[in-house]
Amino acid sequence: MILSVDLGGTKLQYGVFPIQPEGSPPQAMLVDTVVTERDFLGQLTSIIRELTDACPISAIAIGVPGPTSANVMRGSFPLDHPDTLDFGAALHGFNVPIIIRNDLDMAIHCELRLGAGLSTDNFCLLSLSTGIGVSVVIDGRVLDRKVEMGHQILRPDLDPPIPCMDHSNCWAALASGSGIARRFGRGAHTTTKEIFAHVLTEGDVRDLRRCNAQAFGNIVSAYDPEVIVVMGSLGLTQFDSIVPGQDEIAGFTVNRPVPEVMRCRMQQDIGILGAYYAAAEMVARKQPG
Ligand SMILES: [Zn+2]
Repeated sequence: MILSVDLGGTKLQYGVFPIQPEGSPPQAMLVDTVVTERDFLGQLTSIIRELTDACPISAIAIGVPGPTSANVMRGSFPLDHPDTLDFGAALHGFNVPIIIRNDLDMAIHCELRLGAGLSTDNFCLLSLSTGIGVSVVIDGRVLDRKVEMGHQILRPDLDPPIPCMDHSNCWAALASGSGIARRFGRGAHTTTKEIFAHVLTEGDVRDLRRCNAQAFGNIVSAYDPEVIVVMGSLGLTQFDSIVPGQDEIAGFTVNRPVPEVMRCRMQQDIGILGAYYAAAEMVARKQPG
């Protein structure tokens, strides 16, 4: 069995999956979603303890909202945890192989096996959510580099500047869920759902869409994908209003044809399914033959 976890800033989803033969889609034995607690590591530890006591878990895969290397998370804005956290060491006592990766790099394994990857070897997965993240598949392989297209500066001259970490006026500052909330949230309207319903003018929405078209165009120029896949709560709920079409992206890149833009295939469970595939790969590598 594989225990896969998608640890988000607001919710924590986990699932237990029997290991399937190569080529068979994963079938969850159990899936649950809970609110992420402030002590997320303590919460995670008790979930893992309960499940490892109940069933024979042979690998654990955890997607986390922050950059990772060698099972260490290098800070996380959504978890409000700016310091590094060595998950590998913290969960070592379970004596089960563990793989910790950035959540988007987990999710792209799902899209690779069950979504866009079925029809193309070259695509980008864009998460438009609280933050903005981009993961890339080139020639059928996940690009294992620090891709930070969410922080591309789109409006260097914007004044007053919209800050983000050590810079300002990046794509995330302008058009992510938290960026939109900071720029447009007022009164009782603080969530993106309420802001889209009650605050944004047609001009504001057009401006966000144009921002996204410029950012998508730069991604096309950088990675030459055949398809762009959109995931994330903001991207999926506001797809028709803020995700640009091919004709709009064409104004920001010389690459032709401009790739098709589509929603991710497994919208709810993309994180835990991707984590399942990452763990199954790790288990297969450890077994002879
Ligand atoms: Zn930024």
